[in-house]
Amino acid sequence: MDSRFSEEQNLLRDTVAKLMAKHCPPEFMRRIDREQSYPYMLYDSWVEAGLFRMPFAEAYGGLGGSTVDACIIAEEIGRVSADLSMMYGGSTFCGLNVQRKGSEEQKAYWLPRLMSGEIRMSISMSEPDAGSDVGAIRTTAVRDGDHYIVNGQKLWATGAGAKNNVINVYVKTDPKVHYRQGMSLFLVDNDTPGIELRKLDMLGRYCTGTYEIFFKDVRVPADRLIGGENKGWECILSGLQVERVVAAAADVGSAEGCVEMALAYAKDRKQFGRPIGTFQAIAHMLADMATEVAAARALMYQCAAMVDQGEDALKDITMAKLFASETYAKVANLGMQIFGAYGYNKEFDMQRHYRDARIATVAAGTSQVQRNLIAGLMGLKAQ
Ligand SMILES: Cc1cc2nc3c(=O)[nH]c(=O)nc-3n(C[C@H](O)[C@H](O)[C@H](O)COP(=O)(O)OP(=O)(O)OC[C@H]3O[C@@H](n4cnc5c(N)ncnc54)[C@H](O)[C@@H]3O)c2cc1C
Repeated sequence: MDSRFSEEQNLLRDTVAKLMAKHCPPEFMRRIDREQSYPYMLYDSWVEAGLFRMPFAEAYGGLGGSTVDACIIAEEIGRVSADLSMMYGGSTFCGLNVQRKGSEEQKAYWLPRLMSGEIRMSISMSEPDAGSDVGAIRTTAVRDGDHYIVNGQKLWATGAGAKNNVINVYVKTDPKVHYRQGMSLFLVDNDTPGIELRKLDMLGRYCTGTYEIFFKDVRVPADRLIGGENKGWECILSGLQVERVVAAAADVGSAEGCVEMALAYAKDRKQFGRPIGTFQAIAHMLADMATEVAAARALMYQCAAMVDQGEDALKDITMAKLFASETYAKVANLGMQIFGAYGYNKEFDMQRHYRDARIATVAAGTSQVQRNLIAGLMGLKAQ
């Protein structure tokens, strides 16, 4: 029982932790990581437990949960796997965008389907020549009667190839103007004719999967446009704060998972007749790891509470994302050191965190871009 959270929130944490222990025990996690398979049954168990209803408004069938609630869920899933936390994040972030920017008809159509697990969602912004520089996207949508025709290529799309996935794709609808005035967001089923998906051979995040997507004359009904034509940038901005803090929560959870694992190992593994955790070098490493994770967690929950109170928390949240992702990468690296040779063996879980953590400081905005943004919000023009 953590007194900083309400009784319901402590119960929520307990529920998610038990759900993960039941449906995703360590040997199952190791297997799906090895086989690089998407755990549909686990996703369904989240649906059944109402985890996807949590952040949505009651008016649309949700549970009206807070940002702190969403962070609790992400933290507990992340504790097991950063990869799996992206399965939760993808559908949740995209759905919240529909809730904020969709018409009443679109909300009534999409949100119940998402919450019931009938569909899931992924986001596609990045392209081969457009990473940090979102404005460089080249995929286009051109109006053709009551449809739009989408052409282009997307890259690094998390979870895009999963069954019944709806790709939330950002395109240019007016390439002549500044990208902020010429982007739009469309919801496109991943089995629409003209779409070709290729699962990429990445270093980690094997289960949710990372995809390349080709769009060739893909006909998308006009009612799949969210927020209006050329309003894509507003969609991106509207979700930035919640997405970033929930992503930070997943990183914090994963970092906690690393520390727990490394601590247990340090108490158990004996060399020179004593547990390695009694060597000051290892004990201090663990003390530092735990301290940094606690700091990342405190900042993340402080930001989540700020969002719930309606405060503009962009600077703090960007700091939370930066710090949580770098902390995860750092503790996974130190965890590998504590595990010695065993850490490098795929029968142990630290290497999975090490691989997944490496990309935490790149995906969803690199550390350098976060620093640029923080500096900018401090009144510095960092280029
Ligand atoms: C596993 C994984 C999953 C992903 N999932 C998704 C997804 O679901 N949907 C999606 O749309 N995208 C996704 N991405 C893409 C991700 O958002 C981009 O990788 C990220 O935005 C960085 O773009 P980039 O990789 O092209 O790097 P680049 O932008 O080319 O950057 C390369 C390097 O230059 C630095 N750099 C670039 N610009 C600046 C600057 N102005 N100042 C200082 N340094 C700078 C960067 O920090 C980085 O170190 C995913 C990526 C990965 C690896």
